Amino acid sequence: MTTLEIRDLHVSVETKEGPKPILRGVDLTVNSGQTHAIMGPNGSGKSTLAYSLAGHPKYQITGGSVLLDGADVLAMSVDERARAGMFLAMQYPVEVPGVSVSNFLRTAKTAIDGEAPPLRSWVKDVRTAMDDLRMDPTFAERSVNEGFSGGEKKRHEILQMELLKPRIAILDETDSGLDVDALRVVSEGVNRVRANTDVGVLLITHYTRILRYIEPDFVHVFVDGRIAEEGGPELAERLENEGYDRFLATA
Ligand code: ADP
Ligand code: MG
Ligand code: MG
Repeated sequence: MTTLEIRDLHVSVETKEGPKPILRGVDLTVNSGQTHAIMGPNGSGKSTLAYSLAGHPKYQITGGSVLLDGADVLAMSVDERARAGMFLAMQYPVEVPGVSVSNFLRTAKTAIDGEAPPLRSWVKDVRTAMDDLRMDPTFAERSVNEGFSGGEKKRHEILQMELLKPRIAILDETDSGLDVDALRVVSEGVNRVRANTDVGVLLITHYTRILRYIEPDFVHVFVDGRIAEEGGPELAERLENEGYDRFLATA
């Protein structure tokens, strides 16, 4: 059982005018086997939370703590976070010319597990995961993120999640830019990992659409850098009907 514990997290982002406070005291606990949806209007700080958990250098932690089973995540390097079992979908958004998807995945798997996966079972696992995500086998030989469409980037993210088997996965706007078919395939991938492992998921999204496919256990409404309301799946339904206006008015 794994617990990610975010306590009173304050984060500022580096801007030309100096540091700008974005997160203003975020409290959130994600346990193994749970899916938490973070929903909120654009600019409320959702991605800032994801980047902060990923250890992005542009985001300065000005207060609070993040613990993974009691270990100080904020003191860890990006690599150490991955080895500790945290998966951050936006961790490698950059193009990596000359590095194939296949080599990239094997290198990441080896770095996280501390040993190379047995070749035969690895090749089979990759093929099965790609098949499940309806990815063409030639995709494995392409350079990472080079000329990937929006949908291919998202599938590649979920492919990583399926193969790296994280303890905590943070997915930021996994639904953005996907048509309904791709959304279904990507959601099925997330649901497969949820069913086959004990992963805890932090699913960050602006729209309620993806929550029809990936049902969360908890919903947190993010407004102005903090959680304004929390509930179960029914809260997502209310947001779908009422939007975020009610929260913005009182924020
Ligand atoms: P969300 O993901 O909820 O849309 P973000 O975390 O991306 O919100 O942004 C929160 C706020 O922080 C916004 O007002 C945004 O303009 C600001 N912000 C985020 N990153 C930067 C940055 N690199 N430089 C300047 N402002 C930023
Ligand atoms: Mg965002
Ligand atoms: Mg499960």
